[in-house]
Amino acid sequence: MKLTLIGHNERYTVEQSLLTFFPDEKPEYTAALPGEDALTITLEEMADACTAVACLTRGGIEQRYSFTEALSESDFAREGQRRHAVGAAFYGAAQPFLARPLPWGMLTGVRPDKPALSALLRGETKEAAARMLEERYFVSPARAFLAARTASCAARAASELDRKDIALYIGIPFCPTRCAYCSFVSVSVERSLKLLEPYTLALIEEIRAGGAMLSSLGLRVRAVYMGGGTPTTLSASELDRVLSALEQSVDLSHCAEITVEAGRPDTITDERLAVLASHGVGRVSVNPQSMQPSVLSAIGRVHSPGDIERSVTLVKKHGFAHMNMDLIAGLPEDDPAGFTDSLQRCIGFAPDNLTVHTLALKRGSRLLMEKRAIPTAEEVSEMLETAGGSLRDALYRPYYLYRQKYMSGSFENIGWCRGESECLYNILIMSELCSILSFGAGGSTKALLPGGTEVMRVFNPKYPEEYIARPEKMLANQSAFAEFYRRHGV
Ligand code: SF4
Repeated sequence: MKLTLIGHNERYTVEQSLLTFFPDEKPEYTAALPGEDALTITLEEMADACTAVACLTRGGIEQRYSFTEALSESDFAREGQRRHAVGAAFYGAAQPFLARPLPWGMLTGVRPDKPALSALLRGETKEAAARMLEERYFVSPARAFLAARTASCAARAASELDRKDIALYIGIPFCPTRCAYCSFVSVSVERSLKLLEPYTLALIEEIRAGGAMLSSLGLRVRAVYMGGGTPTTLSASELDRVLSALEQSVDLSHCAEITVEAGRPDTITDERLAVLASHGVGRVSVNPQSMQPSVLSAIGRVHSPGDIERSVTLVKKHGFAHMNMDLIAGLPEDDPAGFTDSLQRCIGFAPDNLTVHTLALKRGSRLLMEKRAIPTAEEVSEMLETAGGSLRDALYRPYYLYRQKYMSGSFENIGWCRGESECLYNILIMSELCSILSFGAGGSTKALLPGGTEVMRVFNPKYPEEYIARPEKMLANQSAFAEFYRRHGV
């Protein structure tokens, strides 16, 4: 679509909105011919307010929408307010062209409950936060209510954090085979068996160096999450060595939880689970994604629903305090009836955490390249409605949520829990409440103080081969992390 911005340069806001409202359009900054599909957004700024006017033409029909936003005195706040005016004007002009109102209105980011969290931290009520999402961001009442609830979990976690609190992530970028919807840098073990041992050694070295750095700063680890990939692709002995290194080099006395994504049932064995349990892992994820054989086969999973049942039985036998299960709405070969059946069977396993994802058609995934038919946005909406109702009936409540790019129907992923079984790590990372120090290939470390505004990011090499070959990069990242804390007097 031909884009013209007048009086501002909010390209990021406009392009993210374009991607969300009209995913098939690409931004082009060239003048449009008369009648051609095009968007012009003009921003006019006065001393105490700004007005954005969007003029959108599609298929020969023109829609205009004007939005006025009050401006504060501080430059930082004014920047956000101008951005809001541009985004709101675009949404207002785009809405008549959309097949249905978007569940998250004009919000395009990965954290749609962020404005609600800010409102709660300012002392507003959950009800006021939900109302603000509806009125200011055009969020549907159901999504606004949901976001206010997940934001209240984040607000509670934020209130319990100290400046020295951080979380750790340990990445294991290997999987037994590659799922059709995957775009992660996960290497299938069939091709990379020889990398597992050197990767384990490199990871142990990085954890040891990281532990020394954390203790020199006196930082407190509140949660550890081992994800991937599929961490249980490592053998029981490799898992044992990694977790032993963690225990020996990192002070875990303030750590509320250690979570391991066992993920794929084809990697869950008695021996591996015994190792996890012996190291105090308190939460294990078993991720069926679907309980329909045809769906599992369509996404390239080599396990059956029976394998999932066997994995759940094994996890229960080892007595982990919490079990999570993941499902995905919108997979190929699935439909609302199949999804409901998968959901009911998962609820029947009585996990205390159940995460319902919406399929995201990611670049680089086999699913996108194969152009396979997937359920429509209406069907995905029906699946998510069913999930919400059934989970609430079974006494689950939403505790965190996030969105990804290219999600079916522009919906979301929601973590549900029963009782007080929230996974603290998920809340900390999704609401950006404290630093996450990442170990392993593809690890992204983010340094920030609870309640602070400065964020520093450093990245480990993406691919395992490069990660193994360049230990100096991880040491440099850890130095940058330590420097961030020293600069802030921690
Ligand atoms: S289990 Fe996850 S990381 Fe591994 S291939 Fe499947 S989607 Fe990708």
